[in-house]
Amino acid sequence: MPGRVAVIDRDSCRVEDCGLLCRRLCPLVRNKIEAIKVGDEGRPIISEQLCIGCGICVNRCPFKAISIVNLPGELEGECIHRYGVNGFKLFRLPIPTRSTVLGLVGKNGVGKSTSLRILAGKLKPNLGIVEGDPPSWDSIVEYFSGTSLKDYFSRLASGELRVSYKPQYVDVIPRVFRGEAGKLLSGLDERGVLDEVRSILELEEVMDRGVDVLSGGELQRVAVAAVVCRDADVYIFDEPSSYLDVRQRLKVARVIRGLAKQGVMVIVAEHDLIVLDYMSDMVSVLYGDPGVYGVVSYPRVVRDGINMFLEGYIPSENVRFRSQPIKFQVKPPTQTIESTDIAYSWGYMVKKLGGFTLKVEPGFIRTGEVVGILGPNGIGKTTFVKLLAGLEKPDEGDALPGGVRVSYKPQYISGGYDGTVETFLKNTIGDRIESSFLREEIYRPFKLDRIADRMVSDLSGGELQKLAIAVCLAVDADIYLIDEPSAYLDVEERLAMARAVRRVVENLGRVAFVVEHDILVQDFIADRLMVFSGIPGVEGYGHQPIDMRSGMNMFLKELGVTFRRDRQTFRPRANKEDSRLDRMQKRLGEYYYTSITVEEE
Ligand code: ADP
Ligand code: ADP
Ligand code: SF4
Ligand code: SF4
Repeated sequence: MPGRVAVIDRDSCRVEDCGLLCRRLCPLVRNKIEAIKVGDEGRPIISEQLCIGCGICVNRCPFKAISIVNLPGELEGECIHRYGVNGFKLFRLPIPTRSTVLGLVGKNGVGKSTSLRILAGKLKPNLGIVEGDPPSWDSIVEYFSGTSLKDYFSRLASGELRVSYKPQYVDVIPRVFRGEAGKLLSGLDERGVLDEVRSILELEEVMDRGVDVLSGGELQRVAVAAVVCRDADVYIFDEPSSYLDVRQRLKVARVIRGLAKQGVMVIVAEHDLIVLDYMSDMVSVLYGDPGVYGVVSYPRVVRDGINMFLEGYIPSENVRFRSQPIKFQVKPPTQTIESTDIAYSWGYMVKKLGGFTLKVEPGFIRTGEVVGILGPNGIGKTTFVKLLAGLEKPDEGDALPGGVRVSYKPQYISGGYDGTVETFLKNTIGDRIESSFLREEIYRPFKLDRIADRMVSDLSGGELQKLAIAVCLAVDADIYLIDEPSAYLDVEERLAMARAVRRVVENLGRVAFVVEHDILVQDFIADRLMVFSGIPGVEGYGHQPIDMRSGMNMFLKELGVTFRRDRQTFRPRANKEDSRLDRMQKRLGEYYYTSITVEEE
C-alpha cells in the first residue's frame, strides 16, 4: 500500500521535449515492472502500487515535474474522491451540522473547494475509483453508513436537500448571468430577506448596475447576498472575504452567522483567520500535500481548531503536518522614536479623480520600516500608492523627490505573459535571479522553483500573486509599494510573504508600504500604520503613519470592534459584541493592544 511514492505534476511534464526520460530510467521498468506506464497523449503515469520511491526519476526529470510524496496508506479506505489516475486524492469530508457554522482552513491545493463542491452536489464523489464505472449514488450512500453523512448524501442524491453555494471565483458570475445585480437578487429571494441583506451588505448603490461592470468587492457581496437569499438546508461559502475590506468582511461574517441561527447547516472555507474565527462555531483543518492529497480532520470548536492549525499538529489523530508552529508575538506598542533616520517624507497632497477627492497628511517613513495601510475599499489607498510611485501626479503638494527608485506591485495582476516563470523572472530581474539572499528569502519560501517551468498564463491566482510579489521584491529599489499581497494566498503563504517583505526591507535598509485587509497579516508585517478614512468613492483622507497601537485604535474604533489575544498562540481574536472584554476595552479606548486583553485561563 502507498507510502513513499513518486508523483507527476502534469502541468510541468513536457514529455515531447524529454522523450519519456523517467520511464527509460526507472529501475523497475528496466526490470519489466510497469511502475511508469504510458497514458493519454504519451504522458507518463506512475503506479502508486508498484513505485518504490527510489527517487531516480525525480532527480533526473529535466523539468522538475516529479516529486516524492508520502501518501497516507492508513487512510486508504477513506478516499472520497480522486481526480483521475495519479490525480489529487481527497480523504474524508467535512461534517456539517445543523445550527452550526463549520469553518475549513488549510493550505491551497489540499481539497477545500473539492470538499465543498462535493457537499454542494456539484461534484459526484467517486470514492477513489478512477478506472471502470464510477460508483452509483446507492453505493455512495452506502459508503457513508453509520455516519451523519449518510442522511446528507441520501437526501442530496434524491434531490431533497436544498443547497445554496457560493463558488470561490466570483469573477465567473458575469459569464453566467447578464443583467442588473438587483434583478439577479430579486429573482433568488426565496426567503424574502433581500431588503435586509441589501442594507447590511451596503448593496443599494449597485442594484441597478449590470453585474459585468461591478468591482471584485461588489461582485463578492452580490454573490454572498444571492446565496443568503435562497431558501436552503445547507449554505456553502468558498472564500467569502476575497476582495473585501475589513468592515465588509465582518459584515459578511455576521450575515453568515445569522444563517446558522435559522437551524440550517453552514460551511465556509476562509483564509483570513480573524474572519474565520469570528464566524465559525466549529473548524475542520485540511492538511496534506498540495495537488497530491488532502485529509479533512474531524471538527473541533473554533478556538481549538484554529490553534491546532497554527500548531501544525492534530493530537487526536497524532498527525504533524508542519514542522514548525506559527507563532505570534505580543508586540509592545512601538514608541515614536526620534525621527533622525527618516528615509523619505512627503507633503500634504490633494488628488482629484472624477468625483473623488483624496487628501493626504504629510508624513515620513524611516529606513528599514514597513508602513501598513488600512482603510475601506474606494477610499484612495491605491491612489496614494500610485502618487508615491509617480504613476499619478498630485493636483496639490509634492509626492516624493525625483530619482527615487520605486518597485510597485499593483492590486490586480494579470497572467498575460507568453513564456515560462523562469524566462519571466530572467526578463524582469536579470542577474538578480542568481542572488543567494533572494533565493533564500523569496524563491524558496514561495516555492517558485517548483513552478519555474510552468507557463505564466497557466498559473493559479495564488501562484501569480507569489510571482508578482517576488518580482516586486527582487527589483533593486528604494521603496517597495505592495498593494493587497494576500489576495489568493493561504495562511502560510501570507505569513511567508510578510516575512519576505520584512527581510528585504530590514536587511537591505529599504522601506515598504503595504495595503492589506487581513489584520493578522498587518499585525505581522507593519511597524506603523497609515489609516485612511472618509466616504468611499467620494472623499478619502490619508492620516500620517502612526504607531501600531494608535493606528489600530483609530481604525477599529470606527468599525466598533475590539480584539483580545489568544492565550496560547497570542493571535488576535475579535471580541463578541457587548461581551465583558468588548465593553471594558471600549470604555478604556483600547481596541487592540493591551496587556489585559490576553484571554484569561
Ligand atoms: P483548495 O480549495 O484547498 O485550494 P482544491 O479542492 O481546489 O483545493 O484542489 C485540490 C487539488 O485538486 C488541486 O491541487 C488540483 O490539483 C486538483 N484539482 C482540482 N480540481 C480539479 C479538476 N477538475 N481536475 C483535476 N484536478 C483537480
Ligand atoms: P482603494 O484603493 O482605497 O480601494 P482607490 O484609490 O482605488 O481606492 O480609488 C478611490 C476612488 O477613486 C474610487 O471611488 C475610484 O472609483 C476612484 N477612481 C480611481 N481611479 C479613478 C480614475 N482614473 N478616474 C475616476 N475615478 C477614479
Ligand atoms: Fe519527461 Fe519529466 Fe515528464 Fe518524465 S515527468 S516524461 S522525465 S518531463
Ligand atoms: Fe521508478 Fe523510482 Fe521513479 Fe518510482 S521513484 S517511478 S521506482 S524511478
